[in-house]
Amino acid sequence: MDFDEDKIDDYTLALLYLVTHERHEGLGARAWKGFDWDTLNRLHQQGYLSNPVGKAKSVGMSEQGFLRAKELFERHFARKATVTTLPTFTAEARKRWDQIPDKIVYLDNVWCGQCRASSSTQLREGTMSGRSLVLHGTCKRCGGEVARVIEPVDE
Ligand SMILES: [Zn+2]
Repeated sequence: MDFDEDKIDDYTLALLYLVTHERHEGLGARAWKGFDWDTLNRLHQQGYLSNPVGKAKSVGMSEQGFLRAKELFERHFARKATVTTLPTFTAEARKRWDQIPDKIVYLDNVWCGQCRASSSTQLREGTMSGRSLVLHGTCKRCGGEVARVIEPVDE
């Protein structure tokens, strides 16, 4: 069978998050290592895990490995409703937001001045500025601040 090793690495690392114990903030964690040997080795080579060779039933996770495991776990296994987190709105901004027919566009496609590109955005809040709705968030690529102004519709 021909399979996608990158995908297996991703899912395995995500599942390692589920069997993490002994989390040390900033210093990684340990995780039970009952997974495919070759996969664990690849994750080790990528710097996410300590060398899985040895009698211990668990393997060390680097801080980078733990954080990536957490991110992948949330991406692959969180229920959809919790994945798309809506920004918090002021009451007025909320009213305006509810009028927008094609909202998803704004969640996924905001110009980032730092990346100089259209980028996926984690929206944080929406406020009104005059009659325009302003969405504030962070660029998923560079982590920089982005804002998107949605002009009022003239009735
Ligand atoms: Zn950016």
